[in-house]
Amino acid sequence: MRQRGLLLVIVMGLGMQNSAGGSAAATGRMDVATVEVPPRVGENRRYVEYRRPLVPNPLVKLPIGEITPRGWLRHQLELMRDGFVGHLPEISKWCNPEVSAWMSPDGEGEHGWEELPYWLKGFGDLGYVLKDERIIREARAWIDGILSSQEPDGYFGPRANKKKHDVWPNMIALNVLQSFHEATGDERVIPFMTRYFRWQMNLPRENLLPGSWQKIRAGDNLESIYWLYNRTGEEWLLELGHVIHQRTARWDKHIASWHGVNICQAFREPAVYYVQTRDRAHLDAAERNYQTVTALYGQVPGGMFGADENCRPGYHGPRQAAETCSMVELMHSFELLLTFTGDPLFADRCEEIAFNSLPASLTPDLKGLHYLTGPNMVQLDQRNKAPGLDNGGCMLAYNPHRYRCCQHNVAFGWPYYAEHLWMATRDNGLAAVLYAACEVKAKVADAVEVTIKETTDYPFDEPVTFKLSTARPVRFPLYLRIPCWCEDAAVWVNGESVNTNVKPSAYVRIERTWADGDEVKLVLHMHIDVTTWRTNADSASVRRGPLWYSLKIGERWKRYGGTDEWPAFEVFPTTPCNYGLVLDERNPASSFNVHTKPAGVADQPFTLDGAPIEIRAKGKRIPAWKLDEQGLVGRLQASPVRSDEPVETITLIPMGCGRLRISAFPLIGEGAEAHEWVEPPPPRHRASNCSHDINALSNGWEPKSSSDRDVPRFTWWPGRGTTEWVTYRFDNPRKVASCEVYWFDDRPQRAYYRVPLSWKIYYRAGDDWREVTGASAYGTEVNQYNRVTFESVETSELKLEATLREGFSGGILEWRVGT
Ligand SMILES: [Zn+2]
Repeated sequence: MRQRGLLLVIVMGLGMQNSAGGSAAATGRMDVATVEVPPRVGENRRYVEYRRPLVPNPLVKLPIGEITPRGWLRHQLELMRDGFVGHLPEISKWCNPEVSAWMSPDGEGEHGWEELPYWLKGFGDLGYVLKDERIIREARAWIDGILSSQEPDGYFGPRANKKKHDVWPNMIALNVLQSFHEATGDERVIPFMTRYFRWQMNLPRENLLPGSWQKIRAGDNLESIYWLYNRTGEEWLLELGHVIHQRTARWDKHIASWHGVNICQAFREPAVYYVQTRDRAHLDAAERNYQTVTALYGQVPGGMFGADENCRPGYHGPRQAAETCSMVELMHSFELLLTFTGDPLFADRCEEIAFNSLPASLTPDLKGLHYLTGPNMVQLDQRNKAPGLDNGGCMLAYNPHRYRCCQHNVAFGWPYYAEHLWMATRDNGLAAVLYAACEVKAKVADAVEVTIKETTDYPFDEPVTFKLSTARPVRFPLYLRIPCWCEDAAVWVNGESVNTNVKPSAYVRIERTWADGDEVKLVLHMHIDVTTWRTNADSASVRRGPLWYSLKIGERWKRYGGTDEWPAFEVFPTTPCNYGLVLDERNPASSFNVHTKPAGVADQPFTLDGAPIEIRAKGKRIPAWKLDEQGLVGRLQASPVRSDEPVETITLIPMGCGRLRISAFPLIGEGAEAHEWVEPPPPRHRASNCSHDINALSNGWEPKSSSDRDVPRFTWWPGRGTTEWVTYRFDNPRKVASCEVYWFDDRPQRAYYRVPLSWKIYYRAGDDWREVTGASAYGTEVNQYNRVTFESVETSELKLEATLREGFSGGILEWRVGT
């Protein structure tokens, strides 16, 4: 599925000549066809479409509020309402209306960057989707604050950003206003946005998107310009569209940033611009970006790719992770691509992330989140995981008080998803594009209002039924998306089978005169499929329909911080994690038994015990596959793997139900081609704290100065003013009589790192550490090696202990050991 290109935008099949109200209405004929995408021709007379000369969008977003989610999806939103998203101002200083620059009419105040609009974007939509009066009211107060902050020149929001020529936070605020307008029709929004874009148009070019994240992410700005153009038709907005694209990082040429979140929201920029240029190359460039990243870092289950902060060469396996921001941004990219291409592939990709990755980024009660979620992740403790994961410090423990960007940005994931379940089509019909229980009340044909009640336990079950209510019979086309993995979907209308050549990655289009009480049933048959990841040690993942499956691992939740109301947790495994799969080679799918729980789907199905489906499989333990020093699961080694352990029955659950998971498994093999799993040697260096690259301290790079940022460095960040240590292990015991240390110290530009107050060297003697004797001075000079000599010892490992200066962290650029 990942390798597929974009579908050509063509319409196949029958019935197009019979648009709403045509002669067929009189005959009552039913036309059923399979189409690759809904038509781009025709004019939807009910909803705001892409306006000429923009490329007509085959799927048109319904205004917020027309779709009412039900079932487990509604419950996610209710948990958000009751969880930290619904109460963030109580715990986040960035959402404090008393001091926020976003709340003040003059744009002065504190915390004026991305955090507040990130949260408000999801919080407001959560209120509109749930029709929750409290949330709508609280969001409204912030929105009124933003709307009151416009200057005569059109700029709005925190003035500190204006001084820095940074319009990135305003891009998010524009999304807030767009949703507010869709939900309420508030008359202030359109002229407000018009004045703001005038201000952008009048800026000296060098001050528009000069650099940094705004330059990388300005596709968001472009999208908002088109949103406004579709409503006003003012042509200068399209001129501004060209300008914005020209000032944006060149995603049409290459991957302009390897930061995970940047990729997830900005890879699509050329496709956004395509709606204006009509240049197919722009549309293709977005897909090329996605394929480039996926081929290198996305050969894993769950729909994400490994960029635990940034994509890094050599770090592409399933223990690499995705930031929570990345998940919600990538889902949104696919929602947008779905609207302006109609290609059902983008719905498949959006669902894959929503069901398999996003749930594990949050605690089951949605009262806490973590920064990074990976397909193979078996212990979520607060300890540093760098360099195995990028960025040091706590990234995996669940905590509603941490993770700043994700803590605020996660809010829009589920609400936006719920808003895109159904879309309008240009032939005045409706399309079910993402499946979940819901009710859609929308206008079809010549603005006749119909209600469709969608009942399903999807993605945990195969049937989806649609029951129609209408005041009078009305002819319109109904489109049902057939996912890429479904080879044998079946459709009934009022109990009568209408299976005409139903194909995957397409839509079934049913046009007829619909009457009150009509019922359509769709069954999306799900079959087990085993995917082998060639570039990730030939590991294997199990998929059934839209869900990937993961080893069921017992969870022990341990509170480590937070407040009683908003606690923080680490999660530790209570059952073994190191299984390889035993497959029947000739027929891998026969190695599994699917058990659907008779109790049905729980309100919150994304939990260990609530998993609605379990798959029994065969596995063998691999004793040498262990956690590494930092608590990350050991890197995968080449499959097939030999194991002398007994065959056991193991249980797999949907990947989104497990916070601890093994989703990419080694395969067990026998005979000459099976590999022995080699226990990796202990690491060369270990440290009490580590940010940046621990191996940098013995990589041989010569620093030019203590503040040299061009050479990799090891640091004890976030430790400050503390006593810290770092070790140096040798492959064989050796004689040591001196050490030379080049300290990292970020003076004069910055003020985070200083040479330590003091330090000492210890050597390993059996299980003990002993301080070296006869040591000369332990120097703390900058811009040079600090050499210490001592009485010669023979040892396999040294330990350097440093006392850091009050308020400062410390680090080492290079540590040399001499005889
Ligand atoms: Zn984030």
